[in-house]
Amino acid sequence: MYFNDLNLVEPIQRALESEGYTKPTPIQEQAIPELLQGKDLLGCAQTGTGKTAAFALPILQNLASEKPLKKEKRQIKALVIAPTRELAIQIGDNFKNYSANLRLKTLMVYGGVSQHPQTKQLKRGVDILVATPGRLLDLINQGHISLKNVQHFVLDEADLMLDMGMIDDVKKIVKFIPNDRQTMLFSATMPNAIEKLTRSILKNPVKVEI
Ligand code: AMP
Repeated sequence: MYFNDLNLVEPIQRALESEGYTKPTPIQEQAIPELLQGKDLLGCAQTGTGKTAAFALPILQNLASEKPLKKEKRQIKALVIAPTRELAIQIGDNFKNYSANLRLKTLMVYGGVSQHPQTKQLKRGVDILVATPGRLLDLINQGHISLKNVQHFVLDEADLMLDMGMIDDVKKIVKFIPNDRQTMLFSATMPNAIEKLTRSILKNPVKVEI
């Protein structure tokens, strides 16, 4: 299979060509068609398998088909939560690369740095937010972020979030996201607590194991 076979819009295909991607990886081949249909996904996959593009490309394809709003009227329509700042930056950079030819704004927010530049960017309007749980919850509680327009929600490296004691924050964040949404959860391992979380936030998920 080639990326051309996935019927992605031309601006995304062009971005993938500039990245030098020709063929989807196995997880991309399995997940992208299902995600394009709006299904929920449970992905058991490690980093290095191409899982970021597996969730980023269907999200971008979906957002690309919506009428663009004026910059400052943009609302967060896709939310990705990752356990570490490094991972959040990596995921955000991927979104930026794949959406280079689209009029979509991606922002990364994480702890350990001053909040002010992040709140300034949030005011300017964001379509795709990639965040670590603690800083995200702070910004929500201070009224800087509304998640009421989120249509696509990704939890990446869920088992690592459990190890790092972030699951309670994640559960609090989920309460701010509309129920009518597409949810994707990725985890390299499936401890009980993650399986339980999976059952409470995913609806009839397609399972992809790599
Ligand atoms: P990830 O597992 O998402 O961290 O991706 C691992 C690496 O593979 C990243 O550097 C990606 O840029 C790269 N990558 C992802 N998908 C593809 C693909 N279809 N073809 C070539 N490289 C890819």
